[in-house]
Amino acid sequence: MKRIMIVDDEENIRLLYKEELEEEGFVVELAKNGHEALEKLPLFRPDLITLDIKMPGMDGIETLKRIRETERDLPVVMCSAYGEYKQDFTTWASDAYVVKCADLTELKNTIRRLLGL
Ligand SMILES: [Mg+2]
Repeated sequence: MKRIMIVDDEENIRLLYKEELEEEGFVVELAKNGHEALEKLPLFRPDLITLDIKMPGMDGIETLKRIRETERDLPVVMCSAYGEYKQDFTTWASDAYVVKCADLTELKNTIRRLLGL
């Protein structure tokens, strides 16, 4: 079973993603900010991370940089309510970018694609 870590400062988003991704058969771990994500990374050893961009303190972009210091090949999906970020990530260190919405179809399809499922 593939392991996914969800990083988002909003609890309702974390719980929505967890419920929906567990229904898809994934093992899910949650982190409420970048610091917690970096702490849990070596313990949980995810196959993929979804990373919110807008978070207080260390934002998703800084968190991504820190993740990439040790995990060069780990698939990372950046998530944001703000579609304008999309361009910035075409040359960036993330593997995909998904605009947040209540329907998680695009996110799930992106996750399956990156995991080769
Ligand atoms: Mg946020």
